[in-house]
Amino acid sequence: MSEPLKIPKATAKRLPLYYRFLQNLYRSGKQRVSSAELSEAVKVDSATIRRDFSYFGALGKKGYGYNVHYLLSFFRKTLNQDELTKVALIGVGNLGTALLKYNFTKNNNTKIVYAFDNNVEKIGKTVGDIPVFGMDQLEKKLKEDEIEVAILTVPATVAQMITDRLVKTNVKGIVNFTPARLTVPSTVSVHHIDLAVELQSFVYFINHYSDDEPIV
Ligand code: ATP
Repeated sequence: MSEPLKIPKATAKRLPLYYRFLQNLYRSGKQRVSSAELSEAVKVDSATIRRDFSYFGALGKKGYGYNVHYLLSFFRKTLNQDELTKVALIGVGNLGTALLKYNFTKNNNTKIVYAFDNNVEKIGKTVGDIPVFGMDQLEKKLKEDEIEVAILTVPATVAQMITDRLVKTNVKGIVNFTPARLTVPSTVSVHHIDLAVELQSFVYFINHYSDDEPIV
């Protein structure tokens, strides 16, 4: 990313949420929005929204709110929305197939361009218009297209072995859907999404915390 601005991670995580809502507002011709309106729409309290926006130098005026166009162009730049980020997916099983069929580009500028698998029955086919290549093509394809993000939907047992191959390419980020904990060099980031664990901890939270405390 060319944007030099360093914003807190928690704020950065909320940006796509704000961005999506502001896009809808802009399309409907709205020119300004108050933090209360934003708060209601994205379900983030307005004090947090005001603090988040203060990091971008967007200071809402009392009784006026925020300028939708200004915020939108700021977010587009910060979220790299002008550039398409190409993503590769490894493991075309049930979860991998669902992700390939899901149209990510509808709301943001990331696109899965290749899939890889070691099952000969899957290689050479397309899933959701995305071609599936054999694992022998992995390094070549990723380097050729300078792919920086990979999604792992393989069995946990092979996740580290494949990660070791990915870190030798241009890949800077791995979205790990397997339960395996991955070891990577400091130049590579891992975002771990373990759906089973998340569901389990969510059930724990809804059973153990009172209604007035938000679940984050
Ligand atoms: P399916 O129903 O297609 O078997 P699944 O999600 O139940 O899918 P998994 O065993 O989790 O099956 O495997 C996910 C995908 O990862 C499968 O398509 C499988 O062929 C692929 N896979 C397994 N081992 C490797 C590997 N070493 N390299 C690349 N892909 C692999």
